Amino acid sequence: MERVSSKEEARQALGAARREGMRIGLVPTMGALHEGHLSLVRASCKRADYTAVSIFVNPTQFGEGEDFSAYPRDLERDLSLLKAEGVDLVFTPSTAVMYAGDAQVSVDPGPLASVWEGESRPGHFRGVCTVVAKLLSIVGPDLAFFGEKDYQQLKIVERMVRDLDAATTIVAMPIVRERDGLAMSSRNAYLSAEERAQAVALCEALEAAAQAVAWGELAGPEIERIMAEEFSARPLVELEYAAVVDPATLGRADGVGGGARALVAARVGRTRLIDNVALAAPVAEAASATGASQTC
Ligand code: AMP
Repeated sequence: MERVSSKEEARQALGAARREGMRIGLVPTMGALHEGHLSLVRASCKRADYTAVSIFVNPTQFGEGEDFSAYPRDLERDLSLLKAEGVDLVFTPSTAVMYAGDAQVSVDPGPLASVWEGESRPGHFRGVCTVVAKLLSIVGPDLAFFGEKDYQQLKIVERMVRDLDAATTIVAMPIVRERDGLAMSSRNAYLSAEERAQAVALCEALEAAAQAVAWGELAGPEIERIMAEEFSARPLVELEYAAVVDPATLGRADGVGGGARALVAARVGRTRLIDNVALAAPVAEAASATGASQTC
């Protein structure tokens, strides 16, 4: 496994792989790797001939007062995990390298970024799109792997690649969860034992939504009410939103008839967590696939 920290070295390594006709996979991360990240890495190692992983805590996607400086970092551990997975290249640029010079251009994430996370975190998706566009330019991957954990991010990146004609296929990977259903996240490390116990409210709300749909509840507002109820017994968890949305527009969906996504965001103490699940109206044989196993 090669580790490089400059764009030139990265381009050189990737150029060599490309000349050998290899199919290149990219997994962009902010490090503090867990099984969720590693599931993306494994998918890339399986589907691509050459896997590059970037580790970069991107300052431009953090807002003022957010956790940029506190964000967990453990590069040595990350490198040994990636080596064990058979990764070919790890790109670890510094902020000075990534944003060298007086950059003036950034990527407008468009209307999908105006709601939910975009509303709570102004500028977040502009930062995400800009850094992902830069990584796609530097690495030039055939495939780039993103987790459904950050569902709105995934949808915006898919849209960016489509609208800007990037020659990369975005591969969406399912959410990897802890045993009790909590979606894995580098930010879970911030939780106290008490907070960690109550944080399951997020996946329990999603589970309740999936269960309600399986029992025939198809109205978006009613499913949102059911989700919100799950938070009432968890005083350490402050619900920010629990929404049923159209997966294409991310706008509120009146019903789940044509397929919908349930999104939740909540503050647990000082930690902000997000989670989501697909909701599909039960058609006879699909009914049993909707529900429990997907979340908690
Ligand atoms: P991050 O390091 O948080 O920027 O995440 C890097 C990538 O890993 C993103 O595409 C995330 O959506 C994905 N990811 C993070 N947590 C999970 C998880 N629990 N399951 C699947 N993918 C995840």
